Amino acid sequence: MQFHHIANAAVPSLSGKTIAVIDPSDGQPYDEIQRGNAEDVDHAVQAARLCYDNVWSKLAPLERGRLLLKLSQAVLAHADELAAIEQRDCGKPTKQARADVQALARYFEFYAGACDKLHGETIPYTPGFSVLTWREPHGVTGHIVPWNYPMQIFGRCVGGALAAGNVCVVKPSEDACLSVLRVAQLASDVGFPAGAINVVTGYGHEVGEALARNPGVQHISFTGSPRVGTLIQQAAAERHCPCTLELGGKSPQIVFADADLDAAIPVIINAITQNSGQTCSAGSRLLVERSIYETLLARLASAFEALRVGPASQDLDLGPLIRQSQQQRVWDFLSDAHNDGIAVVAEGSIVDDAPDTGYYQAPTLLRDVPVQHRLAQDEVFGPVLSSMAFDTEEEAIAMANATDFGLVAGVWTRDGSRQFRMARAIRSGQVFINNYGAGGGVELPFGGVKSSGHGREKGFEALYGFTVLKTVAIRHG
Ligand code: NAD
Repeated sequence: MQFHHIANAAVPSLSGKTIAVIDPSDGQPYDEIQRGNAEDVDHAVQAARLCYDNVWSKLAPLERGRLLLKLSQAVLAHADELAAIEQRDCGKPTKQARADVQALARYFEFYAGACDKLHGETIPYTPGFSVLTWREPHGVTGHIVPWNYPMQIFGRCVGGALAAGNVCVVKPSEDACLSVLRVAQLASDVGFPAGAINVVTGYGHEVGEALARNPGVQHISFTGSPRVGTLIQQAAAERHCPCTLELGGKSPQIVFADADLDAAIPVIINAITQNSGQTCSAGSRLLVERSIYETLLARLASAFEALRVGPASQDLDLGPLIRQSQQQRVWDFLSDAHNDGIAVVAEGSIVDDAPDTGYYQAPTLLRDVPVQHRLAQDEVFGPVLSSMAFDTEEEAIAMANATDFGLVAGVWTRDGSRQFRMARAIRSGQVFINNYGAGGGVELPFGGVKSSGHGREKGFEALYGFTVLKTVAIRHG
């Protein structure tokens, strides 16, 4: 049985209700989490406020940094345990679960070093004045985290918020929150004061909504779907609370005829199969210059056919999807493709010993998907790659920008001028040239435009969102 983590204590829900934890590899329950409510959220927000007022706001940035560094080291010391938790909870193959632990440790390490480097400016002004700016924390920050990368996204938002001097109340996803609870315990073990990091588990419409509406929360960072992002922004707007929204994507991978296909092919495949396609920055649209379209599809087809899907513990190319409704969502997209005459070029395979009760989906490559089709416009959040051909650079740009999203884009070309033109013309938060994702670097600011959200997380840039700028003008004559 798991409990909320409030003021460094394991706390049951005031309602006494729990939610079953399901292993996506076999669909069976194996643990329980607390089903929190608005009162639990209030309890956590009050604990956070006390911590902020009495302890956290009085620490030197150097001391915050040392605590974050200790937490990073504790994560590495518990790497196997954390990877095992994430693997079972999310259905991640071992290598992915281990990579997520490394990223989590790296977030805390990066933000540990940033604590004492976040400074304001002095501004030249009228004679007789000195003007300076301070970057001040918001105070109590709320963080709503999805299920696809619980540890990584926890590290990303909580690491940045703490470094900037805030305290945190976190609401992880009801579908995957065990690693977040464990990391919060590790934080308490290494000396984080009670109330600096609080975790309240439960459903989005109960705990998440209560957190977004709680008047004691001064900033909300939300990572999740565009639909819920709209609700969060509406709730925040009602009380003029700033928020950062990291939403979904329908990110293009664009391949020109002069591209190095040997380098591109494994990256293109990884960009749609990593975490079974359940990645906000998944490269889910493949735009290919027509002269190499058939060649590239033929090579991708062989690679797709070799991909194997199975239980997370078998550490294959792909694990299961997170839950049955997600599997059904992917099936609905594929059934639309079938009904609309969109051809399947190739599929991977699900291993024979994968339990029937697990949520498996073979990676699927589709061809000639019309630009306005749902499969070219909406986020599937599964391992489905929609490919289409273009004839000119202008057409590639128009197709790349022809969705409501704008999170990430990848461009493959050896032409240096085209690399810059494409990077300028694509409307998205990140553009990768001759790579995709750059290994996820925690140093690289990340976030979207359009329906992919606003605000930036990761990198030093995130710290600006986790602070408010105060201008101080002193007239001294
Ligand atoms: P989701 O929006 O359903 O849930 C995200 C979180 O919000 C969960 O903790 C959930 O419990 C909570 N929530 C649900 N309803 C809520 C409500 N009414 N009020 C407050 N909170 C509520 O998303 P998901 O299915 O968990 O995650 C998948 C989505 O997240 C995809 O769209 C994906 O692209 C996006 N995502 C974006 C990023 C990014 O950084 N841009 C990263 C990962 C995932």
